[in-house]
Amino acid sequence: IKKKGKKYAKVAHEVKQAAVLGAGIMGGGIAYQSAYKGVPTLMKDIKEEAIDQGLEEAAKHFAKGVERGKLDNRAMAEGMSRIRPTLSYAEFDHVDAVIEAVVENPKVKKSVLAETEEKVSDQTILASNTSSISIDDLATALKRPENFLGMHFFNPVHRMPLVEVIRGKATSEEAVATVVDFAHKLGKTPIVVNDCPGFLVNRILFPYFFGFQQLIADGADFAKIDKVMEKFGWPMGPAYLSDVVGMDTSQHVEEVLAAGYPDRMKQDEKSSLDVMVENNRLGQKTGSGYYKYE
Ligand code: NAD
Repeated sequence: IKKKGKKYAKVAHEVKQAAVLGAGIMGGGIAYQSAYKGVPTLMKDIKEEAIDQGLEEAAKHFAKGVERGKLDNRAMAEGMSRIRPTLSYAEFDHVDAVIEAVVENPKVKKSVLAETEEKVSDQTILASNTSSISIDDLATALKRPENFLGMHFFNPVHRMPLVEVIRGKATSEEAVATVVDFAHKLGKTPIVVNDCPGFLVNRILFPYFFGFQQLIADGADFAKIDKVMEKFGWPMGPAYLSDVVGMDTSQHVEEVLAAGYPDRMKQDEKSSLDVMVENNRLGQKTGSGYYKYE
């Protein structure tokens, strides 16, 4: 990884101004991390309340930094001022890199990416935080696919060190280098992977979720499974992790994996996750999933 980082660094452009599309769980987290690391960041959503929630989350993270003595109030205020909430594309022409973190739906993503491409400069890098959708497929919506790639953060963004940088067939070395460099600037560890359904981490993580769902179907208690996996040494168990990720997002990833690897990853049985989605129990974001949240 280090070797590649050095090689790519030669053609990287510094990201001095960033933008995030979507102020949800991930977009809000990415905007916070970027602002925390000193990069002015526009945070665009289509809903005012999503922006308010994204700002609230960022403020909470900064406040924790103050509580722990890592930051003072002034640094917190400066950090917050680096996040610029917006409902429009005004000022996108000055942005070096845009990270798209809207809902995990190829149609929506393609339309948002194509719309954004019209508002940014020819040099701006467009990166998708998609968990699973093919970068080459999303690139078909764009006029400059060489500027496009995946930048896949994990949840919660401020805590998870890894970032998958996903190179599509048309992605330029400059784009890869710029995003690798930006990931380092955000204090993350980038790994460059080629485009394939689920990329790398979700190809490992989802079979684990499938095992968990089979145990539930066999009558196991989800809370007990969580305790076992915590004792095993994982920071959280699969039920809690599902709540953190969001059931709708997980279901989309499952669909992409099933389509990409029908012999290996197709799940025929209806799972507890499917039932949760049917009942709009999407996890922490809706206040209930496997667990209930105040
Ligand atoms: P979310 O539902 O919390 O947030 C999505 C946000 O996108 C919402 O605020 C919505 O209003 C906004 N949005 C929808 N259309 C938009 C548009 N046209 N322009 C701007 N904003 C728009 O979803 P999330 O969990 O943050 O996931 C976002 C992306 O990140 C998805 O692609 C998902 O697969 C990926 N991802 C999620 C996780 C996770 O654990 N949740 C982890 C890694 C990657």
